[in-house]
Amino acid sequence: MVSATFRFYEELNDFLPAERRRTAFTCGCAQAATCKHMIEALGVPHTEVELVLVNGQSVGFERLLAEGDRVAVYPRFERLDISPLLKVRDQPLRNTRFIADAHLGGLAHLLRIAGFDTLYDNHFHDEQIAELAAKEGRIVLTRDRELLKRRIISHGCYVHALKPAQQLRELFERLDLARSARPFSLCLHCNAPLQPIDKALIAERLPPKVRAHQQHFHTCPRCHRVFWQGSHWRSMHALLQPLLRDR
Ligand SMILES: [Zn+2]
Repeated sequence: MVSATFRFYEELNDFLPAERRRTAFTCGCAQAATCKHMIEALGVPHTEVELVLVNGQSVGFERLLAEGDRVAVYPRFERLDISPLLKVRDQPLRNTRFIADAHLGGLAHLLRIAGFDTLYDNHFHDEQIAELAAKEGRIVLTRDRELLKRRIISHGCYVHALKPAQQLRELFERLDLARSARPFSLCLHCNAPLQPIDKALIAERLPPKVRAHQQHFHTCPRCHRVFWQGSHWRSMHALLQPLLRDR
């Protein structure tokens, strides 16, 4: 016996018992079991499966499972959804970058806090979004299916959830973002990488309480705001923590 961890996505969960839905679970597999054999043994017909990742790599059904493998199984998506996901998968996830449409400002904020380079400006027109996405290799995030139909958009994700925190969770699950997240590495206002800065250089700009209790600071090279692990940091940390559990 070897043991492997499985995670099924989207409607494939309908084939699983409740306790295995939308979560990673570990189970024993016969020696020399293939992906296809185990996926079907767990109750999911192979005809429903479009994409299998083992330890982040796209594999064929005949791949043999080894001890400790992490298996992610994706369904056949609607045409709009499948090609972006496959294309996302063709690239190292650390390069995952986004552009959010005008209705997803809250999500854009949270993605930046999680460390994902995310363009957002509520003055962007659909055409600008499409052009920027194509030029800079960004994944378009939108709740507008028409926008995703534009031909020059090769990477896109239709966001189902309505509230930013749920939208973030949805993206983390669909794109398996946990391992490539770099929380608190970007300015949430400018999307620019933060840099550590000596307390001595900014001490006089700090509120007295912060000056007394905080030792580590970062600054944004663009807007020159200074960041520390205060109450906003703590609430964002609490929001991100459950999403990063699987890292
Ligand atoms: Zn900034």
